Amino acid sequence: MTQLGFFIDLTKCTGCQTCTVACKDAHNLEVGRNFRKVLEAESGTWKQDRATGAWHQDVRAYYVSISCNHCADPACVKVCPTEASHVAEDGSIQIDKEKCIGCKYCMAACPYGARIVQEKTGVVEKCRFCWDGEKPGNPPACVGTCISGARIFGDLDDPDSEINQAIAKYHAQPLADNLTVSKIYYVR
Ligand code: SF4
Ligand code: SF4
Repeated sequence: MTQLGFFIDLTKCTGCQTCTVACKDAHNLEVGRNFRKVLEAESGTWKQDRATGAWHQDVRAYYVSISCNHCADPACVKVCPTEASHVAEDGSIQIDKEKCIGCKYCMAACPYGARIVQEKTGVVEKCRFCWDGEKPGNPPACVGTCISGARIFGDLDDPDSEINQAIAKYHAQPLADNLTVSKIYYVR
């Protein structure tokens, strides 16, 4: 069965925010509301060699493009009282706008702050892999516009898919697999 996901290579990401802009444009999001964000991150440390006293560092700064993780066990779906939030056949987490009553339970439940409420409609929304009502965008707006080719969209259930080959080759991992089982894999 199809299980859609993203592969994102953070070593290629330049932080240009094209994915954020493409997503906002594709979904006509209001000012101040976005499905996707690109954050600045840092990792590594300085260490002193006890023998020589010399300092060495592996500190680096990088960018992280984040949005809904399309969790395998989504908290947002569990708390939704109207079943507006649901798991689609392709494993993506979708929202039926007609059923959403704007209670925001899903916003409180999501550990990633992935959801926003549209002021004009009162409906809660998020990344839906650019679904057009029946099927996902092919590719979603953020993938086709990424200037660095840092993103791959595809079927995690197909061992021969481009996304699975990239995950295996670069040992990509979800960002926070201790919170939920995410379908977004990153190279850091
Ligand atoms: Fe990074 Fe690509 Fe998004 Fe630019 S469009 S910020 S390179 S992921
Ligand atoms: Fe739901 Fe948040 Fe997981 Fe997306 S990241 S599926 S909104 S709990």
